[in-house]
This record gives sequence, structure tokens and C-alpha cells, in this order.
Amino acid sequence: MSLSSLTPQEIASRLETATADYERFAARGLSLDITRGKPSAAQLDLADELLTAVTGADAASADGTDTRNYGGLHGLPELREIFSPLLGVPTEQLLAQGNSSLTLMRDALAFAMLHGRPDSAAPWAGTPVRMLCPVPGYDRHFGLAESLGFELVPVATDAEGPDVDQVASLVAGDPSIKGIWIVPVHSNPIGVSISERRTRELMALPAAAGDFTVLWDNAYALHHLREPHPEPIDVLGIAAEAGNADRPLVFASTSKITHAGAGVAFFGASPTLVDWFARHTAAGAIGPDKVNHLRHARFFGSPEGVRAHMRKHAELLNPKFAAVDEVFSRELGPEDLAAWTNPSGGYFITLAVPPGTASHVVKLAAEAGVKLTPAGATHPHGVDPDDAIIRIAPTMPPLEEVEVAAEVVAACVRVAAYEAVAS
Ligand code: PLP
Repeated sequence: MSLSSLTPQEIASRLETATADYERFAARGLSLDITRGKPSAAQLDLADELLTAVTGADAASADGTDTRNYGGLHGLPELREIFSPLLGVPTEQLLAQGNSSLTLMRDALAFAMLHGRPDSAAPWAGTPVRMLCPVPGYDRHFGLAESLGFELVPVATDAEGPDVDQVASLVAGDPSIKGIWIVPVHSNPIGVSISERRTRELMALPAAAGDFTVLWDNAYALHHLREPHPEPIDVLGIAAEAGNADRPLVFASTSKITHAGAGVAFFGASPTLVDWFARHTAAGAIGPDKVNHLRHARFFGSPEGVRAHMRKHAELLNPKFAAVDEVFSRELGPEDLAAWTNPSGGYFITLAVPPGTASHVVKLAAEAGVKLTPAGATHPHGVDPDDAIIRIAPTMPPLEEVEVAAEVVAACVRVAAYEAVAS
């Protein structure tokens, strides 16, 4: 049954019931937070061996390097070897760096602004720069691009990735379009994984900007909730075959694999772009934290060690994603009041509520003690033209809290939806 088939009396009575449910939750004095995609304490505990994996007595790496000292700008080889097959990037083209991939994205874009890429006619600074942003997308991508003065251009996404026809027509005629952000696996927030076909199309399409860049942010490359899962795509090989070897810059990190604040971030690219990135990094760094690299290399031991570790994460996360799906199916499903994703990996559930009600749902939830990511955060400049998308992050709170938070959100959606049709 859909909302539009209800009589005014039926809507009034449902609104009354929903409001009573909502008020019961509001009276409980809850204080729950499902805003940010952070790992839970139990997930962080899984990697606590890292904290003792290196001591002063055994701080040498496999090739005898004392990891406590300066140097090794490209990162520790044994860690790069472990992550190379997992990310589909040859070891020599994969740098291990500090703790944040977002920082590496900021650096790459700042280098392009200040110095230009090897294939740029001039540095990007001082010229209009437009960046394509698949929507719904990651708010920190938008924030970073905005902080550099870029104009954000939304592009649609389907089940295989960004809408390639839209991207092709935009980049073909506009040399100010310098790049696109892509989260290729279990994307934030809609959980889509790009197909190999779409990757080939994006790597091959003609671009007016000779230095058009694909920021391939593989933040959730290994974060599968169930099988089968996407296999790594050889984006650098595909780009090279298409004659655009320098187009993709690959980013990833262990933020949601080990300790979110003390992981290792990776940068991958063509040999030319790796040299470019390392050269500009070298102006401001003598070497990354290799002790942390060694801890990670010892902790995992092999690519299979990483995969096995991620299966433990999935065991902790699956019940939380299932709980949200179960509550939404029960509370919102029968009358089709909303649609939501049931992702096979990543950190988010995307909830699509009736157009015009997302901000109201977020406000109602806040008033009942449940913090949600602001409506619009999934769109450039924080504005969702349909006011319909809400990002739910169920990973951090304990399961019981996730369940209650989902029930509150469902009550808010019911109130907002019935109010909207009643008015
Ligand atoms: N990229 C995406 C798509 C993310 O969702 C996140 C964190 O939520 C990040 C990057 C941040 O990564 P890092 O912790 O490596 O800076």
C-alpha cells in the first residue's frame, strides 16, 4: 500500500499513532549518535596488538632498516607489498605514508594547484577549477574541494558507478573540469561498487583538460559485509591501456581496518605521477612513520592476514546493518514510506525519505535525542535539492543503541511523511 492510496482519515489516524510513538521515544531522554562512520571500540580492540608489535629491541625492518630513524620516503617495502594485491596497485607504484588518505588527497590537489601536474599546461591555482562529484557522496570530499576554491559539479550515480554519459559530456567540452571523485568500492554513502566496464569507460573518455584526474578513493576496498565481494580493479593498468596512464590517483588507508586515528594511508599512481607526488612530498617531509608501517606489516603478515582481519570486522558489523534493515522493513516497509540501501560493505546505509522531509526528520530525531548527519551532507555545498537523502552510520554505537536509534528514525520518518501528505 502506498501513501497516495490512503484516505485523509487514514492519514490523520496514522499521524496520530506515529506522533504518539515518537513522543514515547522523546520522553526517554535518549542521547544517541549515528552521524559519523567511525569504527566501534570493539573494532579498534581487534588491532590492539599493534601497540606492542614493535619495541626498541626489534625495530629493524626486513631489509635491516632501523625504522625509528629518518628516511624511506616511499614507505616500508614489506607493508607496501602486503597492500599491493589488495588494492590492485604494483608495489613500486604504491606509497605508504601517514595516517590519513584524506590528507594525501589534499596534498595531491594542493601540489596540482601550486605546481601543476606533469601533464598540466600551468598550475591549477589562479584558474577556475571545477570538480565532478558523484551524488550522493562524501561530505569531506566536498569540503576539501570547497576549501581549495573548486566549484563542485554534481553527477548522478547508478548501480555501476558515476553516470558515464553525463561525465563524458561534461569533461569533453570544459577544460576547467579537472577531476572527479570516485569511491570505487562500497561507496560512501550509497554502497555502490564500480563495475570494470564503467572503469574502462571513465579511463578512456576524452577530456578537454589534458590533466583530468580521477581521484580513486578506495577507502572501503576491503570492507565487505558478505560474499561475494568485489575484486580489486586494476585501475592503473586499465588507464594505461586506454592511453591515460596518469589519469587515476589511488588513495586508501587502514583507518577502518586497524586504528582510525593511527593507521597507514596509501597513494598509488603511474610511475610518472608517483615521482611527481614523492618529489613534492619530499620538500616537506624526510620520511613517514615507518615504526607504524612495521607494526602494521608484522600485525598482518600477509594479504591473507588483512582479509582474515576484515572478516572479524564483518562479524561485528553485520548485526548492526541487519538491525537497521529489520527495523526499517518493519516500520517503513509496509506503506513504502522510504527506501534504504542494504549494502554489501562499507560503513553506511542511505535512507531516501519522501522529498521535502529529510531536514524535518533530522530535526525531529535530534529533538528526540538521536543525532543524524545533517540532511544535505551527501550533496555538494550541503544542499540536497530534493531534501530526501539521510546518511545513517550504524558502525560505532553498540548494537542495542543502533536498534533504538533506527526505531526513533523510523518514527520520525513516519511523522514527517504523514504530516507532509496531511498538509
Ligand atoms: N574517503 C572516504 C570515502 C571516507 O568515507 C573516509 C572516512 O570516512 C575517508 C576517505 C577518510 O579516510 P582517512 O581516515 O584515511 O583520511
